[in-house]
This record gives sequence, structure tokens and C-alpha cells, in this order.
Amino acid sequence: MFTSFLIKYAEIGIKGKNRYLFEDALVRQIRIALGRCDGEFHVHKTQGRIFVDALSEFDFDEAVEQMKTVFGISGICPVVVVEDKGFEQLARDVIAYIEKVYPDKNKTFKVAARRSRKDYPMDSVEINMEMGGIILDAFPQMKVDVHHPDILLTVEVREKIYIYSEIIPGPGGMPVGTNGKGMLLLSGGIDSPVAGYMIAKRGVKIDAVYFHAPPYTSERAKQKVVDLAKLVSRYAGPIHLHVINFTDIQLYIYDKCPHDELTIIMRRYMMKIAEHIAEETDCLGLITGESIGQVASQTMQSLAVTNEVCRLPVFRPLIGMDKQEIVDISEKINTYETSVLPYEDCCTIFVAKHPVTKPNLGIIKKHEQNLSEKIDELVQTALDTDEVIVVE
Ligand code: ATP
Ligand code: MG
Repeated sequence: MFTSFLIKYAEIGIKGKNRYLFEDALVRQIRIALGRCDGEFHVHKTQGRIFVDALSEFDFDEAVEQMKTVFGISGICPVVVVEDKGFEQLARDVIAYIEKVYPDKNKTFKVAARRSRKDYPMDSVEINMEMGGIILDAFPQMKVDVHHPDILLTVEVREKIYIYSEIIPGPGGMPVGTNGKGMLLLSGGIDSPVAGYMIAKRGVKIDAVYFHAPPYTSERAKQKVVDLAKLVSRYAGPIHLHVINFTDIQLYIYDKCPHDELTIIMRRYMMKIAEHIAEETDCLGLITGESIGQVASQTMQSLAVTNEVCRLPVFRPLIGMDKQEIVDISEKINTYETSVLPYEDCCTIFVAKHPVTKPNLGIIKKHEQNLSEKIDELVQTALDTDEVIVVE
């Protein structure tokens, strides 16, 4: 019965010019999301509202599922749109609406009229009163509850009249494309896809880099990362995934540095390379899935030593979260199942039995001097052989 949706969005603090940018980006992202569904849709902005009208047959559930991936949407309201043909006709339309949407009439309700067109002959209080009375007459089982109604029946009088009562929650956040671009260090684990999702939720477009170590890491491990990028891109939009061959760098570090410092030195080179690609692709920061204390390389001391190589800000949206909280989000965004597939990632191959948990920057830097002969060349080769996969 529904052929239109009213889109609610939060972040109402956004004013002036930024509000237009926000709304235009939201319209654009809704169009892209609905482009993935069968059917034709008209997405438009009118008087500070965004509406979606279906212009052809469409699958309601599929359209809603797609819109639930659009950051910036706080609520999706299926709405019945009627022409203004006088109050009596409107009352008949409202009764028909309740008849269809609520087969069980054992409910409390409240009418919330809004009149944005001041030439309508009744004001909102009058509409509430009159309509309430008509509903009670039509459905004697229903009762009014002005504080906690089961049904908040909204009637918005504009050029046309909009009737709705259901709000399907959207993902919140801000439309992707309103806040620049970031470079996500994406591994095959649980954390980094969640980190990418969380930063994209703030309107940031995402590119990604994956450090691959063939033959120590398999093609399937790489495919898993591509699959994860695809799942994140449902929300974040197309992702340019840079696959960097890290094997020779890892082997060189393994050869030249103390094994308990391997992970931390490796992570410093990952950050360095990621930053290089970020700067070349106009990314304004790096994004990782690190969380304080989760593993040896994520103690405060380790994070400080890793961070030291970067000029760009490093965003770590999971920094204060427990593993279970991260898992909950990964389940919600559907990356968990893929993340727990058992393919090696490049860090688990070379891990020491007892990695340092309190690395000292001076000592690490001193040991990195062991790499001075070949490391620049190896880093350059890794950058030169960057394989870019566009994931959408
Ligand atoms: P994740 O679940 O995201 O893999 P993790 O708990 O396994 O995280 P680490 O392996 O210490 O933690 O990695 C910390 C962060 O470093 C990751 O969240 C990710 O952002 C980045 N990272 C680790 N390994 C790689 C890799 N092979 N390629 C790209 N980024 C990586
Ligand atoms: Mg990992």
C-alpha cells in the first residue's frame, strides 16, 4: 500500500550552507542505495524534508533494507500521500490507513497534525481534536493516550497531505561524502571492518590498504579482505582497496631485528606505507581497528611507538571498546561471519612467543637502523607494486 517514504534525519545542529550540503549528499546516497533495488524511484527534497516516491512496482522490504545502509538517515517513514480534497475526504483516508496498517485495533493512539500550509481551514489543534473523535467513532476499541500512544498518527498538511505512523530506524550518522576521506588499514580480522564502518558513519569516505604476505598468507586470505571491503562498502560506498605485497619487508625485518620487536617494527612500516598512499590519494587521516590493551601491540606504549611514524592523524574509533562490544557491531553490520573465517593474516605468521609489551622508542629506532641498507628500496618496491581493487 505504501508508495512513498518520508526520510527523517538527525544532526539538526547543522545549519546554513552545511545543511544544504548534508541534505544534497543524503539525497545522492539514497539514490545510490535504491539504485541497487528493482524499481524506479524519485528521491527529492521539498521544504526541508526528503521524500522517496516509487515510480514503479518495487519490493518494500528490499527498498527499506537498502535505505537502512544510508548514513544520515535517522528514520524511514512509510507514508501515504493524498491530495487535499477537504477534511471529510482526509478523514476517510485516515480511517482507511488505520484499517489497513493496524489489523488489531486494540491500541492506544494520538493524532499529531502539522500544518505547514497556513491557508488550510483548520489549525493543527483542531485537526487533532476532530480526527481523534472520528477515529474513536470508527474504531470503538481504540483509545486515546496523549503520553505514550501505541500509534502516533502524524498528519502533515503541505501542498499534499502526508499520513504516517511507523518509523523504521535508520543507521544515523552523516551522509558519506560530507567529511573528507580516510585510509583504513583493513586486515581480515574482526576489528578493522568495524573501525571503517564507524568512521564512514561520520560522513567520511573510505579507501583501504591491506598488507599481504604471499606465500605466507594465501589468496583466500586476500579474498577474505576483499569480501570484507565489499561488506563495508554497502555502507561506505565504493572502496579503493590497495593490496601491498609486504613479504620482503617482513622477511627483512625478521632477518635483521630482535624477534620480540618484530610486530611493533612491522606495524611501524605498515603505518608508514599506509600514510604514503593516504597522502597520494587525498586521505586526511589513517583509520585502524586498534583498542587499548587488546594485544601486545596495542598497549599504550606500543600504540605510542606505532603512532610515532605518522604525520597524519590516526583515527582509532574502537580505542575504548571491549571485544564483545566490537563483536556486537560486526554482527550488526554482517562482517562477523567473514572475519572469523580461519585464514592466516600476515601478522600471525611472524609473531614472537613473547612480543615486547612496553617497547622503548629509542631502542626500537636503534634496531631499525639494522634495516638501513635495503629498507627504503623494499618500501619503494612495495609501493610500486600496489594492486588497486575497486570494491563496490
Ligand atoms: P583486526 O581484527 O582488525 O585484524 P587485530 O585485533 O587483529 O585487528 P592487530 O593485528 O594488532 O589487531 O592489528 C591492529 C590494526 O592494524 C588492525 O585493526 C588493522 O587496522 C591494522 N592491520 C593489522 N594487520 C593488517 C594487515 N595485514 N593489513 C592492513 N592492516 C592491518
Ligand atoms: Mg588482525
